[in-house]
Amino acid sequence: MNNSSSEPLFTYSSIEERTFFVDLILPIPVPRLFTYRVQREMNGLIKIGARVIVPFGKSRVMTAVVARLHNQPPQSYQARYVLELLDEYPLVTGYQLQLFTWMSEYYMCCVGEVLNVALPSGLKITSQSKVQFNPDFDYPELLTEQETVLLDELRKHPALSYEEVGRLVGEVNVPTLIKSLVGKRAVIVFDEVKEKYVPKMVRKIRLSQQYENPDLLLSLLRKLEKLPKQQEAVMRYLSHVPLQRNPALNQTGLDKALLNQDDEISSSSLATLIKNGVFETFELIQPRFSQTYSPQGEIKLTPAQQAASDKTMAFFAEKDIVLFHGITGSGKTEVYIDLIQKVLAGGSQVLYLLPEIALTTQIVVRLQKVFGDKMGIYHSKFSDNERVEVWKGIVSGQYQFVVGVRSAVFLPFDNLGLIIVDEEHETSYKQHDPAPRYHARDVAMMMAYWQQAKVLLGSATPSIESYYQAKQGRYGLVELFQRYGDANLPFISLIDVKKERHQKTMKNEFSSVLYQALSDNLERGEQSILFQNRRGYSPYIQCEDCEWIGQCPNCAVSLTYHQRAAELRCHYCGHKEMVPKLCPICGSTKVKTVGYGTEKLEDQLQILFPDARIQRMDLDTTRAKNAYQQIIQEFETGNVDILVGTQMITKGLDFDNVSLVGIFDADRIIHFPEFRATERAFQMMTQVSGRAGRRADRQGRVLIQTANPTQPVLNKIIDNDYHALYTDEIVERQNFNYPPFSRLIKLTVRHTDQRVSKRAADKLRADLAEKLGDERTLGPEEPLVERVRNQFLYDILIKLEREKINFKAVKAFIQECITNILTDKGLRQVSIVIDVDCL
Ligand code: ADP
Ligand code: ZN
Ligand code: ZN
Repeated sequence: MNNSSSEPLFTYSSIEERTFFVDLILPIPVPRLFTYRVQREMNGLIKIGARVIVPFGKSRVMTAVVARLHNQPPQSYQARYVLELLDEYPLVTGYQLQLFTWMSEYYMCCVGEVLNVALPSGLKITSQSKVQFNPDFDYPELLTEQETVLLDELRKHPALSYEEVGRLVGEVNVPTLIKSLVGKRAVIVFDEVKEKYVPKMVRKIRLSQQYENPDLLLSLLRKLEKLPKQQEAVMRYLSHVPLQRNPALNQTGLDKALLNQDDEISSSSLATLIKNGVFETFELIQPRFSQTYSPQGEIKLTPAQQAASDKTMAFFAEKDIVLFHGITGSGKTEVYIDLIQKVLAGGSQVLYLLPEIALTTQIVVRLQKVFGDKMGIYHSKFSDNERVEVWKGIVSGQYQFVVGVRSAVFLPFDNLGLIIVDEEHETSYKQHDPAPRYHARDVAMMMAYWQQAKVLLGSATPSIESYYQAKQGRYGLVELFQRYGDANLPFISLIDVKKERHQKTMKNEFSSVLYQALSDNLERGEQSILFQNRRGYSPYIQCEDCEWIGQCPNCAVSLTYHQRAAELRCHYCGHKEMVPKLCPICGSTKVKTVGYGTEKLEDQLQILFPDARIQRMDLDTTRAKNAYQQIIQEFETGNVDILVGTQMITKGLDFDNVSLVGIFDADRIIHFPEFRATERAFQMMTQVSGRAGRRADRQGRVLIQTANPTQPVLNKIIDNDYHALYTDEIVERQNFNYPPFSRLIKLTVRHTDQRVSKRAADKLRADLAEKLGDERTLGPEEPLVERVRNQFLYDILIKLEREKINFKAVKAFIQECITNILTDKGLRQVSIVIDVDCL
């Protein structure tokens, strides 16, 4: 499976007489490729990177991708035939095949798992393909017994899936059976399942070409004077498509629905006009991204931005990766645009990665203004069809530039010049579930390396790892510490809530200082953003009498109270239940909510400021496809005074009327039990602070509520001192041997029986330590939430030094240890999740 596209292909004449075999990647978690036989008619057509349909197991069919062409029959099994070739031209590039293989090795998963995540499901078929009886079939063809059985069944049912067929006819090779029946024209296999992607068609109408001649058009209108309804129809068409002014407009015609939309024009006169050849109808494939944007002139970089852009280009002459550290509001996007234009002008492709949430916002609108519909957008909230269109648009050359979320690293680029990873510190670039558990920033670097493209990492708060690489000279470093347009960074102050509680000046969760600032802002008509990194009403409910706490039955966490929905929810497994009226243990009526989330803040705000227009933005209010954009738009147009939200509001938003940001519960963010907590706290609070004060004519304000204002990281946030953060953090990392000084691999053992889970974890740890040593193998430890969905979890953390270590060998050894556990009679029921470079 290491031989991918680089293997020389045979010339056609030399293989003409031989049997062709293909090694295929199937989108399933099996650690190898599968060899299939190619039908003779396909010999010259099948290409590496094309999709094929193959039978798998007794009754399944699958989409697979050709990874290798050769002529060696497999040793240990009889190769089956490829059923169908889906692509004339490869849909997967050689670079992608290389990437899939590399990822499966690096992230220790199966290449099929990578393929499964990489291909939009619109490019896959599933075993859900259906078969139906062909009504035109009349029996004379010779049928085998099994074929007759199946045909009889098919006459009874409207359509059957391959699996149902398997069940009905018993132990036979279903795909072969169906294929043979297709050959005899006895059955039909549904076409649309072959390709789930369907182009969007619109029915259109236009005048016959002769009427593009003004004289003929005029005489037509005269002729129709006696037929007012028909004349009206033509006039209406002309009001939408003024071909008197520009005859060429007629070619693209008009949506038929538009002309038909009300019954003023009866369908019968339209039908007559069509019948008489005045109008003609036609169909057109409508791209799903068909808005047209008029590019809005050149952007003019400020001298500081121009210097940053130039410096980046200069670095690229000698380095492959540049870290661009620019404070919030410095106009990093403008610098990116400048660089993108340069690379596109040179004829190369550009990929611009953004975190999930930021992508749905203003940045995309800004890019669209510059690049129009030459830019593809790849987002997980897009439908499958839309994603397939971007994929195909890259293959066809329509899109040279794509802006997308982490999965956009899987797109079929073959000529990349530049990859931008914006907000490179964002943890959402790492996929947690399912495998491959990849980090899009790191994958992007690999992809860039193969295609000799450059990588630009951008952030106002770079990850410690990236900054370290820059400091070491491995990456170029470009810094921009000036906000665009003379705007200043906001003024940040700390509010001691312990003191205010003591003095009884708090109004619910609001300190008097924050309360006052909010009222002032409302009075001035300026907007405010409030950040609380916890959704729901309150994180738990508790009985005042017996101290019972509502717990999830499946996980070791308390249930979050959601007031709107009037229910308790588990944020780990989604379990929901009604709120008990009485304590289930002691029957007391005093069941209280404890702590607060965004929902509770929203409620309290409404009471404190009855006239304010308040909007909440968190996972619960943004599930619908466009909900996020709608909220942003409402806020942008000034229809909302106060926006309350979770982490979502910290990313990439740019509103110039926001002059106040309030941060709640800073202590919980700082004391999160993980080694990156300080870095995260700095990033989160700096990013959300950056939403304030983007206008030159007024100073923005940020108020951070904390019970302990002396915590060192808070001072670094106030001073906007990233360098101080870095200097302290890097020492900690070195002392405790954390990344960037080591690499981490986390193994999580799971089982429904805690003892089994523990036993497996202990054995795994012991096996690993035998070769890796105690210092490199930590645990097993119960994670923060030790039981999820009724599975008991144990983590083992493997810490590997960066230098002088053979990772391939170490990974092979880890795999061996895992296999050992999974083949142990008493333990094989456990599952083990491998997370390479865990965060
Ligand atoms: P960052 O991403 O670094 O936080 P943005 O790219 O969002 O900063 O820029 C902040 C604001 O300043 C945006 O509204 C942007 O349109 C504006 N801006 C930045 N640079 C320019 C420029 N050269 N010309 C016009 N507007 C600019
Ligand atoms: Zn109780
Ligand atoms: Zn749960």
